Amino acid sequence: MILFKTIEGLQNYLLQQTNDYQSIGFVPTMGALHQGHLSLITLSKKVNAITTCSIFINPTQFNDNKDFEKYPVTIENDILLLEKAGCDVLFLPSADEIYPNGTTLKEKYDLGYLETVLEGKFRPNHFQGVCQVVQRLLEIVKPTQLFLGQKDYQQWMVIRRLIALMEMPIELIIGPTLRENSGLAMSSRNVRLTEKDKIKSVAIYESLQFIKRNYTTSSLELLKHQAISNLLNTGFEKIDYVEICNAATLEPIKEGDRTTKAVILVAAFLNGVRLIDNMVLL
Ligand code: AMP
Repeated sequence: MILFKTIEGLQNYLLQQTNDYQSIGFVPTMGALHQGHLSLITLSKKVNAITTCSIFINPTQFNDNKDFEKYPVTIENDILLLEKAGCDVLFLPSADEIYPNGTTLKEKYDLGYLETVLEGKFRPNHFQGVCQVVQRLLEIVKPTQLFLGQKDYQQWMVIRRLIALMEMPIELIIGPTLRENSGLAMSSRNVRLTEKDKIKSVAIYESLQFIKRNYTTSSLELLKHQAISNLLNTGFEKIDYVEICNAATLEPIKEGDRTTKAVILVAAFLNGVRLIDNMVLL
């Protein structure tokens, strides 16, 4: 694996590859890598000549400064994992490299309804920061395919919109959510959970499964209420949302509707750690 810290170095290398008609798969991350990230590398390697991963903890997408400061950093281990997974290129830029003119956005991204609900509602400006960094990274790497995880359901919908807004010729591929054996969705933030909290946090997956099992026979309000009670009883101190939404638009599913493809989305705090997860109802 070749590591580049500068845009110039990375682009000189990648330009050579694209001149040779090589396809480039790109997996952007914030590091503290786990099997979920590596599964995207594996997906990319199957169809692309060159797989590039980036590690950059983007300050502009954190609405909570404490969350930014506490974000785990495990660069040496990340490099080992990426080597093992067969990643070809790692881009590891500094904040100055990504934002040489500062972080102020010239113009807001028009994300419409998507930005007003769920993560958009509870994390003001989060998706503006996500778009800011992803646009920059896509303009630098110019990938053929971009690989994102279903774990961040609303994020991939936002990035799909960004690609459309910018009219970028990039194919978006969504990889499934990888979970621990317990059902807990893998996440960089899980390292901040104690062993006891890791056991408690499985309540999110159980709540998703509970709703899925009872989706066709119970009212939506009752299902959401029971899921929230289950999370609170397990020890989650704050539930941002448990919602059942149209999987294509994230608008709420109406009570009488059980035919539209739906997705359940959850965000909740356990001992100060904010966890998100989702499950598509087929
Ligand atoms: P992050 O480093 O958290 O910004 O995530 C980088 C990419 O990995 C995003 O596209 C995430 O959706 C994806 N990702 C994170 N966790 C998982 C997981 N458990 N399974 C699959 N993909 C994931």
